[in-house]
Amino acid sequence: MSWQASASVSEKPATEFDAIVVGAGVGGLYALHRLRGLGLNVGVFEAGGDVGGTWYWNRYPGCRCDVESMEYSYSFSDDLQQEWHWPERYGTQPEILRYVNHVADRFDLRRDIRFDTRVISGHFDAASNHWTLQTDRHGAVSARFCIMATGNLSTPRVPDFPGLQSFAGKWYHTGLWPHEGVDFTGLRVGVIGTGSSGVQSIPLIAKQAKHLHVFQRTANFILPARNAALDAGTEQRQKAEYAERRRAALATPFGIAGHPPPVKSALEATQEERDAAYEAKWAEGGSISFLYAYNDLLLNKAANDTAAEFVRRKIRGLVNDPAVAELLLPRDHPIGTKRLILDTGYYETYNRDNVTLVDARSAPIEEITPAGLRTTEAEYDFDAIVFATGFDAMTGALLDIDLHGAAGASLKDKWADGPRSNLGLMIAGFPNMFLITGPQSPSVKAQMILACEQHTDWIVDCLGYMESHRLVRIETTQAAEDSWVAHNNEVANSTLYPLANSWYMGANIPGKPRIFMPYVGGFDRYKQVCDEIAAKGYEGFTLTAAKTLALEPI
Ligand code: NAP
Repeated sequence: MSWQASASVSEKPATEFDAIVVGAGVGGLYALHRLRGLGLNVGVFEAGGDVGGTWYWNRYPGCRCDVESMEYSYSFSDDLQQEWHWPERYGTQPEILRYVNHVADRFDLRRDIRFDTRVISGHFDAASNHWTLQTDRHGAVSARFCIMATGNLSTPRVPDFPGLQSFAGKWYHTGLWPHEGVDFTGLRVGVIGTGSSGVQSIPLIAKQAKHLHVFQRTANFILPARNAALDAGTEQRQKAEYAERRRAALATPFGIAGHPPPVKSALEATQEERDAAYEAKWAEGGSISFLYAYNDLLLNKAANDTAAEFVRRKIRGLVNDPAVAELLLPRDHPIGTKRLILDTGYYETYNRDNVTLVDARSAPIEEITPAGLRTTEAEYDFDAIVFATGFDAMTGALLDIDLHGAAGASLKDKWADGPRSNLGLMIAGFPNMFLITGPQSPSVKAQMILACEQHTDWIVDCLGYMESHRLVRIETTQAAEDSWVAHNNEVANSTLYPLANSWYMGANIPGKPRIFMPYVGGFDRYKQVCDEIAAKGYEGFTLTAAKTLALEPI
């Protein structure tokens, strides 16, 4: 292709590429595979020591995906999806990491990836239409196009408690777990946080620890996963229908097939009908299935209350001590407006003698001490502390890179009041830089691998279009970005989502602007918009030919 800038990465430590991909998680790997298919010389830079992204870093006990294995996998190669065997309904972290490694080897992806290399900064040169990225290990590297596959939950966050460095025991963050694992046998352990990572790890840590204290600030809605071995018949049937299932998934709001959209309001059903419906969903396991009991659970508070109250009744039935059960009842947000959590034996864990639930809402943690931690009410001694305290979600990884666009302005300044993008794919003022599942795209509200594939396919088609039209620069117009952000907010505000203090809203990070970040208008609708924009010659984007003036926005 005419963009060709240098020899293959494998021949010499190249610094010039046609395209640079930042991140070698599921998004970055697929981007590398597809960009190579365009004939581009691609360099991938990855902070971790190997492929896998989320699945490389999150190795805490019990870590597993909350989307079923047969869905949470690449769809781009039928041979790949036919030959891979998923042993369980939901993949464990080691299984998924094994799968991602298999993909990297099968498609010979590693030779273009520089591991243990963090991208520190990036500057766009408007004269040459090139990005130059500074890395911490391979100096400066440059390319015409930059694809940021930096992940949505890839910047682990430990709260700013005073005294952490004084702690005499060992501490861990679930998102930065030691590769060799941690043996908690006989230890006094404190876990801070009861989101998905805490809920998955707590039952297993409790089985090893001498005593486990769980510090809960906000009770969450947690549903049974009902994980089980994937039986051969189901696997065979689903594999036979794979092409159809993948097509069907593209036409669903969450990018996941197999869940017929509900047609009835919860408020049109009788109490008995609702109880029977929720009971069946509870027995089936899974979050989408439960939210699909009725069509207005995420739109109407009264409808939502019926589902929330059902789950609260279940919690009361699972936890022996009524005072502990009361503390575990989620009351401050509608069900489903924070990420629904799937569990295996979480509530039952509080029936163990060696587990104590501490209310970190009424008595907040004030400091970490050499011996453990101190809340406003008591001191606790620990040998180990686990921070299951989440991530600077959706924007953290991008803002950690000091990015400067065409006019030199920084992304940090541009996003000071919250992220703004066109379709979560491009940012006004940052030409030739594409985001994979950026804010204001369905991202975390869709099946992530499918969302990564859809974004990459759009980008690769766009680059193909640019090549065939001899175009060297693309950027979103400010007007298109403003209009998409307004639409994103309008859609979010028509739902119950903004009622929760969730990481979707940036609410888990003190001082982070409150703006609802994922697009919740549905993956199906979103894909249709992306496809229409491409079909209209990239409406809302300015495309520039080599050494000519910019074409007008189409
Ligand atoms: P999270 O959902 O953000 O949960 C963080 C927890 O730490 C919350 O309970 C939070 O309490 C608590 N916390 C934070 N600061 C605290 C403080 N100063 N004092 C006391 N408690 C504090 O993080 P996560 O569990 O890592 O999950 C993040 C997302 O990753 C999930 O929502 C999911 O999308 C993804 N994930 C998925 C899976 C899966 O597929 N099964 C597994 C793990 C993670 P508040 O709620 O009060 O802020």
